Amino acid sequence: MAVEVGPRDSGSSPSETPLADGAAGSPVSEGSATGRLSIEHMSAYYGAFCAIRDLNLEIVPQAVTAIIGPSGCGKSTFIRTINRMHELVPNARVEGSVRLDGEDVYGPEVDPVSLRRVIGMVFQRPNPFPTMSIYDNVVAGIRLGARRPRAELDAIVEGSLRRAALWEEVKDKLRQNATALSGGQQQRLCIARALAVEPEVLLMDEPASALDPIATLRIEELLGELRRLYTIVIVTHNMQQAARISDVTAFFTMDEGRAGYLVEVGPTRQMFTSPTEQLTEDYITGRFG
Ligand code: ADP
Repeated sequence: MAVEVGPRDSGSSPSETPLADGAAGSPVSEGSATGRLSIEHMSAYYGAFCAIRDLNLEIVPQAVTAIIGPSGCGKSTFIRTINRMHELVPNARVEGSVRLDGEDVYGPEVDPVSLRRVIGMVFQRPNPFPTMSIYDNVVAGIRLGARRPRAELDAIVEGSLRRAALWEEVKDKLRQNATALSGGQQQRLCIARALAVEPEVLLMDEPASALDPIATLRIEELLGELRRLYTIVIVTHNMQQAARISDVTAFFTMDEGRAGYLVEVGPTRQMFTSPTEQLTEDYITGRFG
């Protein structure tokens, strides 16, 4: 299901990154914009329970796609299938395909750990590494790879913290423990940590739901800046937030067997003013039973 949004200035798009470690990984290029996700006939299971059935969805690159829908309809499950975190749950499995720039993320040559750098994730509660400094948190993912000169790490830390709109607040205390930061700052630190490894896609699972209104506003402003550079998929239960921050909205609900499915996807303005489906209209106007 393709969705058209207006063209964006793609800015300094992150470079193509192979999904696999070493020579087995094949960078894929399809046009200039990277970070295009194509989900085809995807179903996700926990054991015998089908949490998402037959999902077909194209995620627009370098734009924000909001996933909305009632609790339990599979929103979190869906974004976890994109970077293969779903399979970390015992007995969980996925059918169908998820492609990033044409490459099947479930392909046999794909290394899930490398994939999760290209497709980064930010969780509901900020989860900085509690024993590490601010500096070490930002470069934690990078240190898993080849050793880099100190000056290079310094530049990555500054660049990532600037991009996450946190640099000015922490530049004089980079050696302090990350847990000394406020909740909102910790969440921006987690975003900086995800950005440090140069992802193409950022998955966000209700990233502001544990934050106060001012910290929430900072995160929303930050998304407004990051949307030019990354493909962002955000789960939110807050429809005003979805309307404010996203270019595209996808509405999920669930059937009698509690399997989640996609009802409708479209440009956010249209979804909130003139949705095609009655189910969508009922949900956004609060008439959902
Ligand atoms: P949402 O994010 O829309 O609230 P979830 O993706 O969290 O929905 O959950 C979708 C369905 O999958 C729910 O019925 C939920 O109970 C079930 N589920 C989620 N996580 C697990 C798990 N680890 N094991 C078994 N069932 C799960």
